[in-house]
Amino acid sequence: MFCKQCGNKVDDDAAFCAHCGYNLKPEQTVTPEVVDTNVSSKSRLVAFLLAFFVGVLGVHNFYLGKTGLGIAQLILTITIIGSIASSIWALVDWIMIVAGSAKDSDGKIVKKWTD
Ligand SMILES: [Zn+2]
Repeated sequence: MFCKQCGNKVDDDAAFCAHCGYNLKPEQTVTPEVVDTNVSSKSRLVAFLLAFFVGVLGVHNFYLGKTGLGIAQLILTITIIGSIASSIWALVDWIMIVAGSAKDSDGKIVKKWTD
């Protein structure tokens, strides 16, 4: 390969250019692994299935750590009129999970389908 800085030929596995000292592999030496702190550790697949099958019971909210919302949705579902609102709520949550914009209790995006 060639140095991006000076254009001289360098070894393919060289970390620095022998001619000008340019760091050829900055991404490997500075950040060995990129951890996205905005992504939830919760499984999107699990949230997806819970919201789809038992979404009206707020189970996906319990799973995502949003216990308050889960209880609220559960109480809402018990009442007849409330169950209609809860169904819509569950559907909206499910769409958000599918769209990848659902968040857990820490405000992190539920993005990963698997752990
Ligand atoms: Zn160079």
